[in-house]
Amino acid sequence: MSRMRSLGLAGTLLIATTATAACGAGNAATGDGKPAVMAAFYPLQWISQQVGGADVSVTGLTKPGTEPHDLELTARQVADIKDSSLVVYIKGVQPALDEAVDGHASGKAFDAAAAVSTIPATGDDEGHGEQGHADHADPTYDPHVWLDPSRFATVATQLGERLAGVDPAHAAAYKQRAATTASALTALDGEYRKGLTTCAGRAIVTSHSAFGYLADRYGLEQISVSGIDPETEPSPTRLAEVADIARQKNVTTIFTEELVSPKVAEILAKEVGAKTAVLNPIESAPGDGDYLSEARRNLETLRTALGCS
Ligand SMILES: [Zn+2]
Repeated sequence: MSRMRSLGLAGTLLIATTATAACGAGNAATGDGKPAVMAAFYPLQWISQQVGGADVSVTGLTKPGTEPHDLELTARQVADIKDSSLVVYIKGVQPALDEAVDGHASGKAFDAAAAVSTIPATGDDEGHGEQGHADHADPTYDPHVWLDPSRFATVATQLGERLAGVDPAHAAAYKQRAATTASALTALDGEYRKGLTTCAGRAIVTSHSAFGYLADRYGLEQISVSGIDPETEPSPTRLAEVADIARQKNVTTIFTEELVSPKVAEILAKEVGAKTAVLNPIESAPGDGDYLSEARRNLETLRTALGCS
């Protein structure tokens, strides 16, 4: 019945109310009767699919290969959010989605960051500019909670509870899949802890300050160059500052990421005599594999760069 809404504009949505009423207020379902879950961007889509399984229909709101921070919503997506059973998001990452949730889905949103203890956004994060953190709705905490597997395990458990409330008929299945997902993430956390215990260095220089939770959990120190807009000439002052820190801490590798130009990282690496390597903030769907395989690839990249035994 959501097909009726192809006309789309927010102002015309009221017309469609009669069509959605049959599904129950605030608990709309897809055509096949499954709860419709709108997931903000890749890691949230992944965890929604793991926990929801075949009992839900998950739709990702951010196109693969695009920077989630830059999300703009179409009128159709806003309509789908309004009709959905649950929106899985992180407040403060995507201002357009925050606005849609506040306007149309405030009672049926699951904020993954609210499920865990957050850390403050670092000073480095302020200049996030090109990635969009600059216009954060709530810049007081670091939103990248999915990069700490132990926190993400907590998100899985709480999402299972929430889905059980949305669709009580399948409560046991949601809770069981949540437990399975949480234990996979807990195992991953164990691999990280073990893999990053004995290392020659603990400083990671990243382009985008996405790894605060990872650093927090495993005792690493993140130095981010993202204050520099990756698309323009970097500020010589910041570049020199980061280069100094990198030399002081004997950094061997400057990390870059797929969705951001490697130019700044390459300049910096040349300056300090380091290599570059891709450390994926897993904000977008990986080309192959999934969240878990990408997180394991990141672990190997970190172990090599930090000289871990
Ligand atoms: Zn980010």
